Amino acid sequence: MKLRNIAIIAHVDHGKTTLVDKLLEQSGTFRENQRTEERAMDSNDLERERGITILAKATSVEWKDIRINIVDTPGHADFGGEVERILNMVDGAVILVDASEGPMPQTKFVLGKALKVGLKPIVAINKIDRADERHQEVLNEIFDLFVALDATEEQLDFPVLYGSGRGGWMAEAPTGPQDKGLEPLFDLIVKHVPEPDTASKDEPFKMIGTILESNPFLGRIITGRIQSGSIKPNQPVKVLNGEGSLVENGRISKILAFRGLERVPLDYAEAGDIVAIAGLSKGTVADTFCDPQVTEPLLAQPIDPPTVTMS
Ligand code: GDP
Repeated sequence: MKLRNIAIIAHVDHGKTTLVDKLLEQSGTFRENQRTEERAMDSNDLERERGITILAKATSVEWKDIRINIVDTPGHADFGGEVERILNMVDGAVILVDASEGPMPQTKFVLGKALKVGLKPIVAINKIDRADERHQEVLNEIFDLFVALDATEEQLDFPVLYGSGRGGWMAEAPTGPQDKGLEPLFDLIVKHVPEPDTASKDEPFKMIGTILESNPFLGRIITGRIQSGSIKPNQPVKVLNGEGSLVENGRISKILAFRGLERVPLDYAEAGDIVAIAGLSKGTVADTFCDPQVTEPLLAQPIDPPTVTMS
Protein backbone atom coordinates (compact mmCIF):
# COMPACT_ATOMS: atom_id res chain seq x y z
CA MET A 1 0.00 0.00 0.00
CA LYS A 2 1.21 3.51 -0.82
CA LEU A 3 2.00 5.82 2.04
CA ARG A 4 2.07 9.45 3.07
CA ASN A 5 3.48 10.65 6.38
CA ILE A 6 2.25 13.99 7.67
CA ALA A 7 2.21 16.09 10.82
CA ILE A 8 -0.65 18.31 11.84
CA ILE A 9 0.48 21.59 13.35
CA ALA A 10 -1.99 23.78 15.20
CA HIS A 11 -2.26 26.04 18.18
CA VAL A 12 -4.26 24.52 21.01
CA ASP A 13 -8.02 24.83 20.35
CA HIS A 14 -7.64 25.60 16.67
CA GLY A 15 -9.40 22.33 15.94
CA LYS A 16 -6.79 19.61 15.38
CA THR A 17 -8.55 16.85 17.29
CA THR A 18 -11.90 17.58 15.70
CA LEU A 19 -10.36 17.57 12.22
CA VAL A 20 -8.54 14.27 12.75
CA ASP A 21 -11.78 12.71 13.99
CA LYS A 22 -13.52 13.81 10.80
CA LEU A 23 -10.68 12.51 8.65
CA LEU A 24 -11.04 9.14 10.36
CA GLU A 25 -14.79 9.22 10.00
CA GLN A 26 -14.88 10.25 6.35
CA SER A 27 -12.22 7.78 5.33
CA GLY A 28 -14.28 5.07 6.98
CA THR A 29 -11.43 4.24 9.30
CA PHE A 30 -13.70 4.09 12.31
CA ARG A 31 -14.97 0.64 13.02
CA GLU A 32 -18.70 0.36 13.31
CA ASN A 33 -18.69 -0.14 17.03
CA GLN A 34 -16.40 2.82 17.64
CA ARG A 35 -18.13 5.95 18.67
CA THR A 36 -16.88 9.10 17.03
CA GLU A 37 -16.57 10.74 20.43
CA GLU A 38 -13.50 8.61 20.89
CA ARG A 39 -11.18 11.34 19.88
CA ALA A 40 -8.08 10.32 18.06
CA MET A 41 -5.34 12.39 19.55
CA ASP A 42 -6.96 12.90 22.87
CA SER A 43 -7.59 9.34 23.76
CA ASN A 44 -5.44 9.01 26.86
CA ASP A 45 -8.26 8.45 29.30
CA LEU A 46 -10.05 6.09 27.07
CA GLU A 47 -6.95 4.07 26.42
CA ARG A 48 -5.93 4.05 30.03
CA GLU A 49 -9.37 2.67 30.74
CA ARG A 50 -8.86 -0.10 28.27
CA GLY A 51 -5.37 -0.65 29.56
CA ILE A 52 -3.87 -1.07 26.14
CA THR A 53 -1.89 1.75 24.73
CA ILE A 54 -1.28 5.17 26.12
CA LEU A 55 -0.74 8.46 24.38
CA ALA A 56 -2.02 8.02 20.88
CA LYS A 57 0.41 10.37 19.22
CA ALA A 58 -0.09 8.95 15.80
CA THR A 59 -2.94 7.61 13.78
CA SER A 60 -3.54 6.61 10.19
CA VAL A 61 -6.35 6.89 7.72
CA GLU A 62 -6.80 5.17 4.41
CA TRP A 63 -7.83 7.22 1.43
CA LYS A 64 -8.20 5.66 -2.03
CA ASP A 65 -5.71 2.89 -1.25
CA ILE A 66 -3.17 5.26 0.25
CA ARG A 67 -2.41 5.10 3.93
CA ILE A 68 -1.84 8.49 5.49
CA ASN A 69 0.08 8.33 8.77
CA ILE A 70 -0.76 11.40 10.83
CA VAL A 71 1.55 12.39 13.64
CA ASP A 72 0.68 14.83 16.37
CA THR A 73 3.17 17.55 17.20
CA PRO A 74 3.70 18.42 20.86
CA GLY A 75 1.42 21.14 22.05
CA HIS A 76 3.80 22.75 24.46
CA ALA A 77 7.44 23.52 24.93
CA ASP A 78 10.14 21.68 23.08
CA PHE A 79 12.20 19.26 25.11
CA GLY A 80 15.53 18.12 23.79
CA GLY A 81 14.69 18.44 20.12
CA GLU A 82 11.44 16.51 20.30
CA VAL A 83 9.62 18.67 17.77
CA GLU A 84 12.43 18.30 15.25
CA ARG A 85 12.54 14.55 15.66
CA ILE A 86 8.81 14.29 15.14
CA LEU A 87 8.95 16.54 12.09
CA ASN A 88 11.81 14.48 10.73
CA MET A 89 9.49 11.46 10.63
CA VAL A 90 7.14 13.07 8.11
CA ASP A 91 7.25 14.35 4.54
CA GLY A 92 4.58 16.99 4.84
CA ALA A 93 2.58 19.08 7.27
CA VAL A 94 -0.88 20.57 7.51
CA ILE A 95 -0.84 23.92 9.30
CA LEU A 96 -4.28 24.36 10.78
CA VAL A 97 -5.15 27.93 11.75
CA ASP A 98 -8.31 29.33 13.30
CA ALA A 99 -9.92 31.76 10.81
CA SER A 100 -10.59 34.25 13.56
CA GLU A 101 -7.57 33.96 15.84
CA GLY A 102 -4.92 33.65 13.17
CA PRO A 103 -1.48 32.17 13.73
CA MET A 104 -0.47 32.01 17.40
CA PRO A 105 2.94 31.64 19.08
CA GLN A 106 2.79 27.87 19.11
CA THR A 107 2.00 27.76 15.40
CA LYS A 108 5.00 29.98 14.81
CA PHE A 109 7.35 27.85 16.87
CA VAL A 110 6.46 24.52 15.27
CA LEU A 111 6.05 25.99 11.79
CA GLY A 112 9.54 27.46 12.06
CA LYS A 113 10.94 24.01 12.78
CA ALA A 114 8.87 22.44 9.99
CA LEU A 115 10.25 24.93 7.47
CA LYS A 116 13.75 24.32 8.75
CA VAL A 117 13.56 20.57 8.21
CA GLY A 118 12.42 21.33 4.66
CA LEU A 119 8.73 20.44 4.75
CA LYS A 120 6.41 22.13 2.28
CA PRO A 121 3.30 22.80 4.35
CA ILE A 122 -0.35 22.84 3.35
CA VAL A 123 -2.28 25.65 5.03
CA ALA A 124 -5.82 24.94 6.23
CA ILE A 125 -7.80 27.90 7.53
CA ASN A 126 -10.27 26.37 9.92
CA LYS A 127 -13.49 27.40 11.69
CA ILE A 128 -14.60 29.44 8.69
CA ASP A 129 -18.13 29.13 10.10
CA ARG A 130 -17.26 31.52 12.92
CA ALA A 131 -19.18 34.79 12.75
CA ASP A 132 -15.94 36.65 13.41
CA GLU A 133 -13.86 34.80 10.82
CA ARG A 134 -11.40 37.01 8.93
CA HIS A 135 -9.81 34.57 6.50
CA GLN A 136 -8.17 37.11 4.20
CA GLU A 137 -6.31 38.85 7.01
CA VAL A 138 -5.43 35.50 8.56
CA LEU A 139 -4.03 34.30 5.25
CA ASN A 140 -1.90 37.45 5.04
CA GLU A 141 -0.68 36.90 8.59
CA ILE A 142 0.27 33.33 7.74
CA PHE A 143 2.10 34.48 4.63
CA ASP A 144 3.98 37.12 6.66
CA LEU A 145 4.84 34.48 9.21
CA PHE A 146 6.31 32.21 6.50
CA VAL A 147 8.39 35.16 5.29
CA ALA A 148 9.52 36.01 8.81
CA LEU A 149 10.54 32.39 9.30
CA ASP A 150 12.71 32.46 6.16
CA ALA A 151 10.55 30.13 4.11
CA THR A 152 11.98 29.24 0.71
CA GLU A 153 10.11 30.27 -2.43
CA GLU A 154 8.75 26.76 -2.78
CA GLN A 155 7.51 26.76 0.81
CA LEU A 156 5.94 30.21 0.34
CA ASP A 157 3.97 28.86 -2.56
CA PHE A 158 1.83 26.87 -0.11
CA PRO A 159 -1.59 25.57 -1.11
CA VAL A 160 -4.51 26.84 0.99
CA LEU A 161 -7.83 25.27 1.90
CA TYR A 162 -10.62 26.83 3.91
CA GLY A 163 -13.31 25.09 5.86
CA SER A 164 -14.67 23.78 9.05
CA GLY A 165 -13.27 20.71 10.72
CA ARG A 166 -16.35 20.45 12.85
CA GLY A 167 -18.55 20.82 9.80
CA GLY A 168 -16.44 18.15 8.11
CA TRP A 169 -15.45 20.07 5.00
CA MET A 170 -12.53 21.86 3.38
CA ALA A 171 -12.51 23.62 0.02
CA GLU A 172 -10.35 25.86 -2.14
CA ALA A 173 -12.66 28.80 -1.47
CA PRO A 174 -13.93 30.00 1.90
CA THR A 175 -17.45 29.69 0.57
CA GLY A 176 -17.12 26.02 -0.24
CA PRO A 177 -18.38 23.83 -1.85
CA GLN A 178 -19.07 22.00 1.38
CA ASP A 179 -20.64 18.89 -0.08
CA LYS A 180 -17.33 17.26 -0.97
CA GLY A 181 -16.52 16.93 2.72
CA LEU A 182 -12.80 16.57 3.38
CA GLU A 183 -12.04 15.06 -0.03
CA PRO A 184 -10.15 18.20 -1.13
CA LEU A 185 -7.89 17.89 1.91
CA PHE A 186 -7.26 14.17 1.39
CA ASP A 187 -6.54 14.77 -2.29
CA LEU A 188 -4.22 17.68 -1.56
CA ILE A 189 -2.26 15.66 0.99
CA VAL A 190 -1.81 12.86 -1.53
CA LYS A 191 -0.81 15.28 -4.28
CA HIS A 192 1.36 17.72 -2.34
CA VAL A 193 3.17 15.47 0.13
CA PRO A 194 5.95 13.35 -1.38
CA GLU A 195 5.67 9.60 -1.15
CA PRO A 196 8.27 8.12 1.23
CA ASP A 197 11.27 6.70 -0.50
CA THR A 198 11.16 2.95 -0.03
CA ALA A 199 14.21 2.24 -2.19
CA SER A 200 16.35 1.69 0.89
CA LYS A 201 14.22 -1.18 2.11
CA ASP A 202 16.88 -3.69 1.10
CA GLU A 203 19.53 -1.98 3.22
CA PRO A 204 20.12 -2.77 6.92
CA PHE A 205 17.36 -1.69 9.30
CA LYS A 206 17.71 1.77 10.89
CA MET A 207 15.21 3.86 12.80
CA ILE A 208 15.52 6.83 15.18
CA GLY A 209 13.53 6.38 18.36
CA THR A 210 11.09 9.28 18.31
CA ILE A 211 8.27 8.69 20.78
CA LEU A 212 8.70 6.59 23.90
CA GLU A 213 5.82 5.05 25.78
CA SER A 214 5.51 2.34 28.32
CA ASN A 215 2.78 -0.21 28.23
CA PRO A 216 1.74 -2.57 31.03
CA PHE A 217 1.79 -5.59 28.72
CA LEU A 218 4.47 -4.83 26.20
CA GLY A 219 6.92 -2.79 28.25
CA ARG A 220 8.74 -0.03 26.42
CA ILE A 221 7.31 0.89 23.07
CA ILE A 222 9.30 3.11 20.79
CA THR A 223 7.79 4.79 17.76
CA GLY A 224 9.79 5.95 14.79
CA ARG A 225 9.96 6.07 11.04
CA ILE A 226 11.86 3.23 9.47
CA GLN A 227 14.70 5.01 7.68
CA SER A 228 16.02 1.97 5.88
CA GLY A 229 15.58 -1.76 5.80
CA SER A 230 12.70 -3.84 7.03
CA ILE A 231 11.72 -5.58 10.26
CA LYS A 232 9.90 -8.67 11.41
CA PRO A 233 8.99 -9.78 14.93
CA ASN A 234 11.79 -11.66 16.64
CA GLN A 235 14.44 -9.97 14.54
CA PRO A 236 17.65 -9.09 16.44
CA VAL A 237 18.16 -5.38 16.84
CA LYS A 238 20.80 -3.28 18.50
CA VAL A 239 20.50 0.20 19.89
CA LEU A 240 23.18 2.89 19.53
CA ASN A 241 23.19 6.23 21.28
CA GLY A 242 24.08 9.50 19.58
CA GLU A 243 27.77 8.93 20.24
CA GLY A 244 27.66 5.54 18.61
CA SER A 245 28.00 3.56 21.86
CA LEU A 246 26.04 0.38 22.29
CA VAL A 247 22.98 0.84 24.51
CA GLU A 248 21.71 -2.71 24.23
CA ASN A 249 21.28 -5.74 22.05
CA GLY A 250 17.84 -7.24 21.87
CA ARG A 251 15.03 -8.49 19.73
CA ILE A 252 11.83 -6.99 18.44
CA SER A 253 8.98 -8.71 20.26
CA LYS A 254 6.18 -6.87 18.51
CA ILE A 255 5.67 -4.40 15.67
CA LEU A 256 2.61 -2.21 15.99
CA ALA A 257 1.11 -0.04 13.30
CA PHE A 258 -1.35 2.77 13.77
CA ARG A 259 -4.69 2.05 12.14
CA GLY A 260 -7.30 4.58 13.02
CA LEU A 261 -7.41 4.64 16.78
CA GLU A 262 -6.12 1.13 17.07
CA ARG A 263 -2.71 -0.35 17.01
CA VAL A 264 -2.48 -3.54 15.08
CA PRO A 265 0.38 -6.01 15.19
CA LEU A 266 2.29 -6.39 11.94
CA ASP A 267 4.46 -9.26 10.82
CA TYR A 268 6.50 -7.05 8.51
CA ALA A 269 7.26 -3.35 8.08
CA GLU A 270 9.68 -1.55 5.80
CA ALA A 271 11.41 1.76 5.07
CA GLY A 272 9.06 4.73 4.92
CA ASP A 273 6.50 3.53 7.42
CA ILE A 274 5.98 4.85 10.93
CA VAL A 275 5.66 2.02 13.43
CA ALA A 276 6.05 1.26 17.10
CA ILE A 277 8.29 -1.55 18.25
CA ALA A 278 8.39 -3.40 21.55
CA GLY A 279 10.99 -5.74 22.97
CA LEU A 280 13.91 -3.45 23.78
CA SER A 281 14.38 -2.51 27.40
CA LYS A 282 16.82 0.44 27.37
CA GLY A 283 16.69 2.09 23.96
CA THR A 284 15.11 5.49 24.08
CA VAL A 285 14.28 8.66 22.21
CA ALA A 286 17.01 9.85 19.82
CA ASP A 287 18.79 6.47 19.91
CA THR A 288 19.26 4.55 16.70
CA PHE A 289 17.49 1.19 16.56
CA CYS A 290 19.25 -0.83 13.92
CA ASP A 291 20.45 -4.08 12.47
CA PRO A 292 23.36 -5.56 14.48
CA GLN A 293 25.75 -4.92 11.54
CA VAL A 294 25.19 -1.12 11.62
CA THR A 295 27.97 0.86 13.31
CA GLU A 296 27.02 4.52 12.80
CA PRO A 297 24.04 6.10 14.57
CA LEU A 298 21.59 8.15 12.50
CA LEU A 299 21.87 11.18 14.79
CA ALA A 300 25.62 11.33 15.09
CA GLN A 301 25.96 13.73 17.97
CA PRO A 302 25.32 13.69 21.68
CA ILE A 303 22.06 15.36 22.55
CA ASP A 304 20.23 16.39 25.68
CA PRO A 305 18.85 13.68 27.93
CA PRO A 306 15.70 12.27 26.38
CA THR A 307 12.29 13.21 27.64
CA VAL A 308 9.41 10.82 27.98
CA THR A 309 6.65 12.16 25.80
CA MET A 310 3.58 13.20 27.71
CA SER A 311 0.59 14.95 26.30
P1 GDP B 1 -7.43 21.13 19.42
O1 GDP B 1 -7.04 21.65 20.76
O2 GDP B 1 -6.66 21.82 18.32
O3 GDP B 1 -7.34 19.64 19.29
O4 GDP B 1 -8.93 21.58 19.19
P2 GDP B 1 -10.30 20.78 19.27
O5 GDP B 1 -10.50 19.91 18.09
O6 GDP B 1 -10.41 20.15 20.62
O7 GDP B 1 -11.32 21.99 19.14
C1 GDP B 1 -11.33 23.09 20.04
C2 GDP B 1 -12.72 23.73 20.06
O8 GDP B 1 -13.01 24.27 18.78
C3 GDP B 1 -13.83 22.73 20.36
O9 GDP B 1 -14.79 23.37 21.18
C4 GDP B 1 -14.39 22.42 18.98
O10 GDP B 1 -15.76 22.05 19.03
C5 GDP B 1 -14.22 23.75 18.28
N1 GDP B 1 -14.13 23.56 16.83
C6 GDP B 1 -13.44 22.62 16.15
N2 GDP B 1 -13.61 22.77 14.83
C7 GDP B 1 -14.41 23.83 14.66
C8 GDP B 1 -14.96 24.48 13.51
O11 GDP B 1 -14.74 24.09 12.37
N3 GDP B 1 -15.73 25.57 13.74
C9 GDP B 1 -15.99 26.05 14.99
N4 GDP B 1 -16.76 27.13 15.09
N5 GDP B 1 -15.51 25.45 16.09
C10 GDP B 1 -14.73 24.35 15.93
